[in-house]
Amino acid sequence: MEYGQQFIRIYHEVYRLKTKRIAIIGAGFGGLSAAYDLSRKGHQVVVYDSDDGPGGLARGFKEPAWKWSVEKYYHHWFASDQHVLGLINELGWRNKVIFPRPYTVMYYKDEFYPFDSIMTALTNPIIGWGLSKLRFGMIGLYLRLTTNWKALEKVSAESWMKKWAGQSVYEKMWAPLLQGKFGDRYMHDVNMAWMWARLHARTTRLGTFEGGFQAFANAFQQRLSEMSVQFQFGTIIKEIKHINESHLKLIPAGKKPEIFDACLVTSSPRQLAGMADGLSQTYLKGLLSLKHMGAVVLVISLRQQLSREGYYWFNLPKSAGFPFLALVEHTNYLSPDYFGGDHIIYIGDYLEPDHEHFNLSKDELLKRFIPSLARINPEFRPDWVKKSWLHRTRYAQPVPLIHHSENLPEIRTPIKGLYYASMSQVYPWDRGTNFAVEIGRKAARLMIEDFVC
Ligand SMILES: Cc1cc2nc3c(=O)[nH]c(=O)nc-3n(C[C@H](O)[C@H](O)[C@H](O)COP(=O)(O)OP(=O)(O)OC[C@H]3O[C@@H](n4cnc5c(N)ncnc54)[C@H](O)[C@@H]3O)c2cc1C
Repeated sequence: MEYGQQFIRIYHEVYRLKTKRIAIIGAGFGGLSAAYDLSRKGHQVVVYDSDDGPGGLARGFKEPAWKWSVEKYYHHWFASDQHVLGLINELGWRNKVIFPRPYTVMYYKDEFYPFDSIMTALTNPIIGWGLSKLRFGMIGLYLRLTTNWKALEKVSAESWMKKWAGQSVYEKMWAPLLQGKFGDRYMHDVNMAWMWARLHARTTRLGTFEGGFQAFANAFQQRLSEMSVQFQFGTIIKEIKHINESHLKLIPAGKKPEIFDACLVTSSPRQLAGMADGLSQTYLKGLLSLKHMGAVVLVISLRQQLSREGYYWFNLPKSAGFPFLALVEHTNYLSPDYFGGDHIIYIGDYLEPDHEHFNLSKDELLKRFIPSLARINPEFRPDWVKKSWLHRTRYAQPVPLIHHSENLPEIRTPIKGLYYASMSQVYPWDRGTNFAVEIGRKAARLMIEDFVC
């Protein structure tokens, strides 16, 4: 008995010593997931975010008449998103995830054709007939089966697709996708592993959380608060200073500096470079060499349904003269009943961070975009528009160039106690909340390992 009590006392003593005070910068899916694992190990976690609530890029907003929130940028999960769905399972909320089957189409010569899997693409006339279709099918099967993405990152998606799918299929199917996502500047240089990741594991059923992604982020934050994680919203961290071998000082704008044993940053590479004092030249150079695209997205509520066919996602090639890349009719995925009967559409584009659309006002953008809605439904009239919201971010989509795996910043930065986990490191996967959860939990694992050493 005596030995037993002594053991428990020593255990608690050691445990107390091992309890760390940890700061997490970012209450997106990555930061929240890391906070969950660190807190479960008994560490004291404080999460900072410049925004006024959790969710990061997947954050939503709600009008008074809406029961569900709408993401600022269109969001859904794939049935293969095992990390985020696994986390939701652990939290006990799997019954709140729904997987409707919406319809994605691609524009071709004034018509829209199904385009949400290799199988549906095979049935449409865009890729032509005969040998073209056979090659397309073989490529689809190969990309679905192979896991050797390393070999694919040595070549551009453009050269690989031209070689194996043929010039014509490349121009009709893949060039619009690459141009839309990466613009004229990078579309020729994005590597084939990025395209592989898109085609390898995606599903036609698309998932969301009852109430929207924001409902999940709020419930997750609530659970973390119950586990004693602290949240400091509306707080911008200006600087992170390494003060000695085992401590970092965080300097928030307009607030008192705070001392921590460790810190995880989940912001863009450029923001980390501007915040952290004392990063090595090699790490800094690596961060600043990473390329990304921004996003400009208008959310519009309409009095009537736009797509009479009930399509959800329209892929729109720039060459067809649409001033945006994607049109997404959210209420052809989720019932307008959740949104007070409003019909919600997104009009979105990925643009270089210095593109003029980052400086135009909402009204100027509406003026440019609204006329194109009549190409989706000739009966559309501007007086269908009830209300609109403009969302912009300069960090929306990392650009993976040839041999990109050699340029990824390590989660453990050269500063002791400072860790970094962001969208730019989830490669070969394309960014997404699923991979934010994966990398957030991976960073937490590495931190816990280091605390034990
Ligand atoms: C247009 C668009 C469409 C998308 N579609 C999907 C989709 O359909 N499905 C999907 O799963 N994912 C989608 N994503 C991607 C997804 O949103 C991201 O991969 C994911 O949210 C990233 O999470 P994160 O935690 O890594 O980073 P973020 O969500 O970016 O969180 C980082 C947080 O850090 C905060 N921050 C940064 N710097 C500071 C600072 N100095 N001080 C304090 N706080 C700071 C920011 O405010 C932010 O909240 C989409 C993204 C965009 C832009």
